[in-house]
Amino acid sequence: MKEKNKKRSWKQIVSILSCIVVFCTTYALILPAVTLSTDTYCGKEAHTHDAECYREHDKSKPLCGLEEGEGSEGHTHTEDCYGNVEVGRNLICGMEEVEGHVHDDSCYQSEFEYGLICGKEESEPTEGHVHNEDCYISETPICGKEEHEHSRECYSNKEDVEDPKDWEEAYKDINKEEDAKTRILTVAKNEVGYKENKANFSVDENDAEHYYTRYGHLYEDMYGDWNNYFTGYVLKYANVKMNFDKDISKWQNKTIDDQKEEGEEGNVIKLGDFRLRKTLL
Ligand SMILES: [Zn+2]
Ligand SMILES: [Zn+2]
Ligand SMILES: [Zn+2]
Ligand SMILES: [Zn+2]
Ligand SMILES: [Zn+2]
Repeated sequence: MKEKNKKRSWKQIVSILSCIVVFCTTYALILPAVTLSTDTYCGKEAHTHDAECYREHDKSKPLCGLEEGEGSEGHTHTEDCYGNVEVGRNLICGMEEVEGHVHDDSCYQSEFEYGLICGKEESEPTEGHVHNEDCYISETPICGKEEHEHSRECYSNKEDVEDPKDWEEAYKDINKEEDAKTRILTVAKNEVGYKENKANFSVDENDAEHYYTRYGHLYEDMYGDWNNYFTGYVLKYANVKMNFDKDISKWQNKTIDDQKEEGEEGNVIKLGDFRLRKTLL
């Protein structure tokens, strides 16, 4: 019979704490919607590449890779390019240069060979180039920015978390109360009115938002379902050891097993469900 009572007590405390959770949740929901912050925390600038992102504005940096200049017609040798070319001159006057005779043109006979006389190299015709607007358009964006569209997640301030030291501080005198059930009530009542932090949240793959709570924080699951974490939080700061496990299914089994061995802590709650609810609400 005693054993049975203990089990019932444990069931009660869990269901009572669940009631508190339901109450807190409802309370949070009926509060006026918090104005959504327009600040972003992603550290990025919203940017979508447009035509300007591909344009070089510095006119001294054309992107075409061409030099500006006039074109040329090019040259291909024709018959007219060939003729007799003087390749040397032979002295034919037969005289030594002495006083009275200085070699002049008539003293020489030119030697010719047939060859190129145009004096040009063959070349392809080239077009001239003057940079135009197109010379300053890049194939890839050159704005230097990353494309980014703010998602809902960008508005979440992940650093907006509580300091666990504050929780310790708030309940540091809890042990002055000897009665465990009163300690539990003290902590639970003190948490009434606590709200999820709408400024710090995560967005899941279904676009559902999950908000920060200190209860999630305590169990290193900041945005997790906090119903069960709330229970653990209350027990922890009420300094009631019930071998809480953040996995509720484990905890319930474990609790029942533990009671068989330890028993005594099971006596902490003997209050009726009704009375507890009434006290809290
Ligand atoms: Zn851009
Ligand atoms: Zn020629
Ligand atoms: Zn001569
Ligand atoms: Zn150009
Ligand atoms: Zn962003």
